[in-house]
Amino acid sequence: MATLDKAYKEIEGIIGSKYITEKDFMKAAYSRNVDPAFPDRWADMIVRPVSSEEVSEIVKIANKFKIPMVPRGGGADLVGGSVTQGGILLDLTRMNNILQINEENFYCEVEAGITWGALVSRLHDKGLTTGVLGPGSGFSATIGGGLSNSTAGFGSTKYGVVPDICLGIEVVLPNPQGTIIRTGAAANKYAEPFCRYGVAPDFTGLFMGDVGTMGIKTKAFLKLFPVTPFKAQRYYILNKNDYNKVYELLHRLRAEVRDGLHDVLVVPLITMQLLASLVENKPNKRPRLKGPIFSILVEAMDERILDVYLEQVENIMKEDAREFEMQEVDLDATLSRDWKFNLKYAYNYFNKYISVAPPKISCTTCHKVPISAIPDVAEKSNQFDIKYKSEFPLGSISLFATVIFLMPNGNCVIVGGFNADNIDEQRETSMKMWHKKLRLQVRYGGVHYWLGEAISQSIVEADAYTPEFIQFFKNMKKAVDPNFLLSPNKFHMYNYEDDIFSHIVREE
Ligand SMILES: Cc1cc2nc3c(=O)[nH]c(=O)nc-3n(C[C@H](O)[C@H](O)[C@H](O)COP(=O)(O)OP(=O)(O)OC[C@H]3O[C@@H](n4cnc5c(N)ncnc54)[C@H](O)[C@@H]3O)c2cc1C
Repeated sequence: MATLDKAYKEIEGIIGSKYITEKDFMKAAYSRNVDPAFPDRWADMIVRPVSSEEVSEIVKIANKFKIPMVPRGGGADLVGGSVTQGGILLDLTRMNNILQINEENFYCEVEAGITWGALVSRLHDKGLTTGVLGPGSGFSATIGGGLSNSTAGFGSTKYGVVPDICLGIEVVLPNPQGTIIRTGAAANKYAEPFCRYGVAPDFTGLFMGDVGTMGIKTKAFLKLFPVTPFKAQRYYILNKNDYNKVYELLHRLRAEVRDGLHDVLVVPLITMQLLASLVENKPNKRPRLKGPIFSILVEAMDERILDVYLEQVENIMKEDAREFEMQEVDLDATLSRDWKFNLKYAYNYFNKYISVAPPKISCTTCHKVPISAIPDVAEKSNQFDIKYKSEFPLGSISLFATVIFLMPNGNCVIVGGFNADNIDEQRETSMKMWHKKLRLQVRYGGVHYWLGEAISQSIVEADAYTPEFIQFFKNMKKAVDPNFLLSPNKFHMYNYEDDIFSHIVREE
């Protein structure tokens, strides 16, 4: 019997024939993430374990037969992270239970394959929230994916990225023993998982943002917060198109409104113009758009405090902007004073900015920069787009940012990318330009977060890592994955002997 067949039979013996498949139509269904540049990639088998123990047994078999594995949550990755050409695709979405909601001590324990939508709606009924509610794709994306991709989403201006709310995890190491460990307070077998630091070095951090290269997360312990009852949304449009002003205003909002800010998004003028041209129910008069739009959501435990926050926002914005209503471009939009938070909003508001040309998918380049760098990186990005205009795939729009999203302290996410068609004729061009633009961002000091394959490889190509860092990374990986089976290809690592520096691209 061939190796793969033997492994298949052994795994089937562990999880049952219903939860393993090598059927073509299933491989096709699991062959993609949400990105246009990668071709379909078919795993050798797809397995759907239901417990940490089953994951551990699968890992042992993969080691016995030296078969690579890639973990997958919702598969909503935008950078080729949760698919594999050959090997075992580990679908974790059957591990979707909420194990504990600890209302007394404000934490919860969940299985890593639960979606944000399922968890957050259960919590919402109890007046609780995880603060950051996961990505815009949260109705299908999972907690495990959010932790592995260092995801930012609704609530990130105040609560940070998903790893910031993580108190520890249970993780199966990809070693021949399929070792299961717990991190954070849960590493103390007598302790509840109520805090992250103190019991040992912060080994949780080793698995955060690892894009599934260091272990298979099976459980997560997350912070909980009481739902803040008073929220309000305001929009402002700047009097002119000036990124220096954008920086100054973000700086003042952060300095003066602080914790009152729940989410601050800046929609660049060009994005607003594109969106205005796409809406179905347009006003008769053409909108007068002169500058970027600030979308500011504030929250408070008391209505009087909310009013103070709104007054502060108005004082900061009034010299350089006027209040704006989305109805000025879209008659179906809700007036800001009528705006009410609901979960559908949390998982929809960001999505329209991911791809501003609806029939096309975005080769996303979302990354973080310090807010003071916004004017400089906007200029560098525009120069790049002008220089390489003719090399982008036909009909694509490359933007510095479709939206700028304020993060805690002084950094922001530049949401952006360019559009491409999901067709074979465009893949090579799209992939080439995607990596090129990513390398530019890495070299101006941008920090990406969902790294998958496309971005992790581009960081290596840009020569960002020192040899000492790479050696440390390899040593750490070797300690948990001696046979190099988990998520090969990411970071241009294909085995421990390879010289990853041979992938550096120096031409730009
Ligand atoms: C419409 C849309 C909107 C989006 N909005 C946002 C956004 O607002 N913010 C944002 O950050 N991202 C966003 N994304 C990107 C993506 O959906 C998120 O990063 C999301 O967190 C991925 O979760 P997932 O469960 O789908 O992960 P997957 O796609 O399944 O996996 C993502 C990565 O994590 C690894 N992984 C998954 N589960 C595990 C596990 N249990 N253990 C170890 N490794 C694992 C995979 O190998 C892969 O590398 C968006 C995508 C779309 C399509």
